[in-house]
Amino acid sequence: MKIHVNTGGPVATNGYLIVDETTGMAAVVDAPYSTVAPLLNIAAHHNYQITQLLLTHGHWDHIADHQVVTDSCPQAAVLIHRLDEPKLIRPISLFMALPFVIPSRKATGYLEDGQKLQVGKLEFHVLFTPGHSPGHVALYCPAEGMLLAGDLLFAGSIGRTDLPDSNPRDMAASLARVLKLPDETDVRSGHGPPTTIGAERRTNPWLEHL
Ligand SMILES: [Zn+2]
Ligand SMILES: [Zn+2]
Repeated sequence: MKIHVNTGGPVATNGYLIVDETTGMAAVVDAPYSTVAPLLNIAAHHNYQITQLLLTHGHWDHIADHQVVTDSCPQAAVLIHRLDEPKLIRPISLFMALPFVIPSRKATGYLEDGQKLQVGKLEFHVLFTPGHSPGHVALYCPAEGMLLAGDLLFAGSIGRTDLPDSNPRDMAASLARVLKLPDETDVRSGHGPPTTIGAERRTNPWLEHL
């Protein structure tokens, strides 16, 4: 697997291009504002075929560039958990005025707990991890020991639970769930640098009470 990341938008959100190099199939994971075009250029340069846009949740900073993906890759499925689709249909910011407009759209399909997704020969397991938002998911690739954590877990921190659509109790359960993954699991978050489950279990102050 090859991972490209591009960070941007008003709150420095990470967008990812995940590539199965054996087949040339790829997926975009989250679409932060003004971050997707460079990732699509990488894909075009290598002739990767983007089969999916996978959205960890529906907050504006993770969906803003969705149309950039579908304009360039109309065949790519746009997948999100059903409980966060309303924010894709009616994109809004819960805590700040946005200097741009996010187009409305419906998902082409849904991410559900336990679902297995193929990106070429890479298999991702969908983990339903509500709390930061009601329909938040993380994507776990067991063969590569990699977790795309969205806004569930960050290096040294966790996703906000003070937003109108957050639920701190659900968040605690979702964090406890991913902390059961192996120590060496490579965690790629929606904000900030990569980390591992082991490093966060040992040092993240937000996880002490779990
Ligand atoms: Zn968020
Ligand atoms: Zn975010």
